Amino acid sequence: MSPGPDTPAHRVVIVGGGFGGLFAARWLGRKKVDVTLVDRRNHHLFQPLLYQVATGMLSPGQIAPPIRNVLRRRSSVRVELAEVTDIDLAARLVHADLLGARQWTIPYDSLIVAAGTSQSYFGHDEFARWAPGMKTIDDALELRRRIFGAFELAELADDDAGRRHWLTFVVVGAGPTGVELAGQIRDLATRCLRGEFRRIDPSAARVVLVDGGTGPLATFGHQLSARAARELERIGVDLRLGCRVTGVSRAGATYTDPDGGTVEVGAGTVIWAAGVQASPLGAVLAASGDVGLDRQGRVEVAPDLSVPGHPEVYVVGDMMALDDLPGVAEVAMQGGLHAANSIVRRLGGKEPVPFRYRDLGSVAAIGRFDAVASVRRLRLSGFPGWMVWFFVHLAFLEGFGNRLPTMVRWLRSMVGRSRAERQFSTAHTGGDLSLPDDVRGSVQPAPFPLAAEVLDPPAPEERPGPPDDVT
Ligand SMILES: Cc1cc2nc3c(=O)[nH]c(=O)nc-3n(C[C@H](O)[C@H](O)[C@H](O)COP(=O)(O)OP(=O)(O)OC[C@H]3O[C@@H](n4cnc5c(N)ncnc54)[C@H](O)[C@@H]3O)c2cc1C
Repeated sequence: MSPGPDTPAHRVVIVGGGFGGLFAARWLGRKKVDVTLVDRRNHHLFQPLLYQVATGMLSPGQIAPPIRNVLRRRSSVRVELAEVTDIDLAARLVHADLLGARQWTIPYDSLIVAAGTSQSYFGHDEFARWAPGMKTIDDALELRRRIFGAFELAELADDDAGRRHWLTFVVVGAGPTGVELAGQIRDLATRCLRGEFRRIDPSAARVVLVDGGTGPLATFGHQLSARAARELERIGVDLRLGCRVTGVSRAGATYTDPDGGTVEVGAGTVIWAAGVQASPLGAVLAASGDVGLDRQGRVEVAPDLSVPGHPEVYVVGDMMALDDLPGVAEVAMQGGLHAANSIVRRLGGKEPVPFRYRDLGSVAAIGRFDAVASVRRLRLSGFPGWMVWFFVHLAFLEGFGNRLPTMVRWLRSMVGRSRAERQFSTAHTGGDLSLPDDVRGSVQPAPFPLAAEVLDPPAPEERPGPPDDVT
C-alpha cells in the first residue's frame, strides 16, 4: 500500500464535497494516497437544516462550512473549486470547468462520484420561477426573502384581497422538507412576528401544504404520518392530500383534488419541496460506459458501489441506485466511507465487499419542540421525538465547530421568539447600492422579490382566493 520513494502515489479524484464526498475525503486523507476533491461550490452543505436558514433561524455559515476548512488537517487532500463537466471512463480522466475561465483535465487511478441531486419539477421547469425549491444556500436565501418579503408586501397591500394574497403560502410536497417548512412558517406567523406589523395580523397567514399521497411524512409509516397530520392541523397548516399540483404562476398554484376537480389557490409565495433528480453526471457516466440509470437518473451500481465494468469508479450518495436505498445523508456518508475503504482494500490486493447499509433511523421536525423519530422499532413523537431530532442534528454538526452556537440559537428560537437571520433589502445582494443603476443592474439579481410583483402585482381577477373560497 505504501508507495516507494519513486512510486507516484495512487491518485483519487472525488467529485462533490457533500456528505458522500466529504466522508470519503476525510477517510482517504489518513491514507497514503493523493486526493483531489472537486466541488463547484466552496462549502459543504448540511441540507437538512436549510429550512432553518429559509425561516431566519440559522445563518448560512452555521450549516455551510468551507470544504477546505473542514479538510485543513488532511494535507494529502487538495480541494479544487471547479465544475466537473465530463468523465472519460476509458481514459480515466475527469474534465472540469474552472470558473468559466478555462478547462482542466484531471487524471485519476480511482474515482468517487458523489454529485448528489437537484430539484425536479417533473418536466415543468417553468414552475421554478414562481416556486423555488430548496437545495442550496442560494435557494434558502431566496426563500427567506420571499417568505419575510410576503409579510412586508401584505403590510403594504391596500385591500383585503391583496393582504390575503400575500399572507397565503403554498408548500408543495409533504415530505420532511415540506412539513418542516410549513410548520416553521406557521410558527413565524403566530409567534415570531407577533406585534411587529401595524396594518396586518401575521397570525392570519395561511399555509397550504399540498401532497399527492395519503399522508404527510409517508416514509415514516402510518402511525407517525397520522400523528404528523394531526399536529400540522393543530398548528394551523391546511393539509391538502391526494392533490397534484398542475400549475404555478405568479398568482398562486393550481392542483387537482382527489375527485378530479381543479382548485386554484391564490398565494404570494409558492415553495417547491417535491421531487429530485440525480446529477447530470449520472447520464455522463452512462454515455461513457455500460452503465444503467433508474427513472430519477441515478446510477445503478454494483453491490460494492462500483460502476459495473469499472472497479476503480464508485458512485455514492443521492446519485446511486442500489436496493431501493433512500436519498438520505446517512446512506451518503456510509457509502462514501465504503467507497474510500474499498479503494484502500483494492490497493492492498483484497477482494471487494458488498455495501451494507446500517439504518440508524429517521427524524423530521413538525413544529416547536415537536418532531417524529423512527429509530429501529421505536416510534417517537412530540417532545421525545424532538429531543431525538435535536441530538441527531447536533451530532451531525459535530466537527464543524458550529455545535454550541447552533444549539444556543435553537434554544433561543424555541423558548423565545427570536429569528435573528431575517436580513434582506429591496435591492438584495451583490454590489454597492450607491452604484449607478445600469452598473447595479448588471451585478444584481432581480430586486425583491421579483420586480414585476412589486411594480405590477396580480390584478384582483388574477388573484384567486384561498382554497375554501374556490370550491
Ligand atoms: C432540504 C433538504 C432537507 C433534507 N433533510 C434531510 C434529513 O432530514 N435527513 C437526511 O438524512 N437527509 C436529508 N436530506 C438529504 C441529504 O441532504 C442528502 O441525502 C445528502 O446531502 C446526499 O449527499 P450527497 O453527497 O450524495 O450529495 P450532496 O450532499 O447533495 O453533495 C453533492 C455535492 O456535489 C457537488 N456537485 C454537484 N455537481 C457537481 C459538478 N458537476 N461538479 C462539481 N461538484 C458538483 C455539489 O456542489 C455538492 O457539494 C435533505 C435534503 C434536502 C435538500
